[in-house]
This record gives sequence, C-alpha cells and structure tokens, in this order.
Amino acid sequence: MPANYKAELVGVLGYPVAENPTGVMQEAAFRATGLNWRYLNIEVKPDGLADAITGVRAFGMQGINLTIPHKVAVLPYLDDVSGDAAVIGAVNTVRREGDQLIGENTDGKGFLRGVRVDAGMDPSGKRVVMLGAGGAARAIATELLLAGVEDLLVVNRSVARGESMVKHLKDNVARSPIRFEPWQGTYRVPDDVDLFVNATSVGLYPDVDAMPDVDLSAARTDMLVADAVFNPPTTRLLDAATKRGMPVLDGLSMLVYQGTIGFTMWTGLEAPEQIMKDALAEALGVK
Ligand code: NDP
Repeated sequence: MPANYKAELVGVLGYPVAENPTGVMQEAAFRATGLNWRYLNIEVKPDGLADAITGVRAFGMQGINLTIPHKVAVLPYLDDVSGDAAVIGAVNTVRREGDQLIGENTDGKGFLRGVRVDAGMDPSGKRVVMLGAGGAARAIATELLLAGVEDLLVVNRSVARGESMVKHLKDNVARSPIRFEPWQGTYRVPDDVDLFVNATSVGLYPDVDAMPDVDLSAARTDMLVADAVFNPPTTRLLDAATKRGMPVLDGLSMLVYQGTIGFTMWTGLEAPEQIMKDALAEALGVK
C-alpha cells in the first residue's frame, strides 16, 4: 500500500488560546483511535476571523472550535447552523458536510450528557434553578428546555440580561416553561428543586474563594448541584453542597463532554471518553 502521510486538521480559533485545554483531550482521542489528525490552538484576532474561516476552507480542515471572542461573530461566515445553535445564537463547534461548514453548539449538550451519565439524572420532568444569563447559561437553558424540564427558573444579577434571555427562549423554543427572578441579596433555594446550576463565573480562577450568594439550607439533600466553572473543579459552591450531603457535578464534566460530542461530530467515531477525561484531568493537574 502506498504511504499516506496526510494529516487531517482541526483546532480552535480564539484570542487568547494558549491556555485552552480542549486540544489535549482531542489529541489523546486521535492517538487512541489511530487517527492521523492534529488539533491546533490558533490565535486569531477579531479582525482576522473572516480570513481565518477562508483558511479553514482552503486547508480542508475537518472542523474547528470557536472560543472568545468568536462564538457569535463567526455566524455570518458559515453555510448553515444547527437548530439549537441558532436558538443559542452562538457556535462553539464547526463541522464539515462536504464543502459546507455547519455551526453547532456543544456546550449545553455537554452539560446535559454530564447530568445524565456522570450524575445519573434524566432532566425530563425536573424542576431546575439556574444562576446566570451569559453564554454558558443560554446554552445550558436551551438544552434543558429541549430535554423537557418541567420548570426552569433563571436567577441573574442583571435584570435586563436575565429578562432578555428568558424572553428569547420563550419566543424560540416550542415548549419553554422558563421564568426569571432577579438575584437580589441571598437567593434561598426552595425545597422543590431537583437540579441547581451555577452558570455564572462566580468562583472561577483566580477568584476561587468567591461563592454565589445562595442559601442551600432549605433545599432537599438529594438535589443535584452542578457548576459550570471548571477551574477549580471543586468550587466553594460544590464544597458547600457536598458538606450537606448533596450530589454534585463539576464543570470538568461539561468540558469533557462538549469535547467528546465534537470528536464524534468530526470523525463519525465513538469518542474514547475515559481517555479524554484522563488527558484533560492530567493537563489541568487534577488527576
Ligand atoms: P459570561 O460573561 O457570558 O456570563 C457571566 C455570567 O456570570 C452572567 O450571568 C453574570 O451576571 C454572572 N456574574 C459574573 N460575576 C457575577 C457576580 N459577581 N455576581 C453575580 N453574577 C455574576 O460568561 P460565560 O457564560 O461564558 O461563562 C460563565 C461560566 O461558565 C464561566 O465560569 C466559564 O468558565 C464557564 N464555562 C464552562 C464551560 C465548561 O465546559 N465547563 C463552557 C463555557 C463556560 P450579569 O449578567 O449580572 O453580569
């Protein structure tokens, strides 16, 4: 058989990208599945995005991830966008379909897979409270609604941002039992909540001592507490929940699964999840 040294390319476009750890787990997956693929962290300034996408097409790249500041800005340069990414209004993963570049959003899907696989909870019919109304919150809320939650209460500090997200989802998702409450003072989590999510950046490195201003004392001890913050994986919120005997789900789970879902979108292969989890944990020094 003639030699084939051609490598397939994927990667992430962002600014900055140096500390983005997704490539570590994707490259581990490529090695494990015997694929001659490379994942490149490519620094692209905002005014370079159009040229970068032309480059993605010219290089025949199999797919790309997008991170800050390109997740929304990339939309006009794509050939099509999946239904949920269109509702979220942001793309974190692009896959190829022939010559077409299709935008997807795997953040919320990754979160849901963590809820299902790592925490063993089916979100359908569940009552959820979510802190936050930024990009991560919008992705998580969209997928929770599509998964059939019974009630989704969004609690956010900025009233305008929270109300506008809730209105957008009500207008764009067919069945959307979603409502908004301003976050004023300490938010007391009631006793009928099944899943409590922190989708704010409170607790994110370097502010690791920060904790969302919430009171868990009235919540049920079987309420699942999930945090989107992955650095550090054990946030003060998750620590407080664990001390109350509540099950917890850390942000690494969401991060790994957005990557495993992306791997499958790009390669068509089942993702070696454990290998990807181990590679990410090792890269982040949490093994
Ligand atoms: P955004 O900047 O889009 O949104 C930030 C959110 O946090 C807003 O709702 C904001 O409220 C809220 N917030 C920030 N500071 C405070 C504060 N002091 N008190 C109350 N609320 C606050 O960020 P993203 O949505 O992109 O990211 C949110 C978190 O999710 C980050 O920690 C990020 O690392 C994490 N993330 C994790 C992923 C994973 O795979 N695990 C993937 C993507 C994100 P307001 O509207 O009032 O400003």
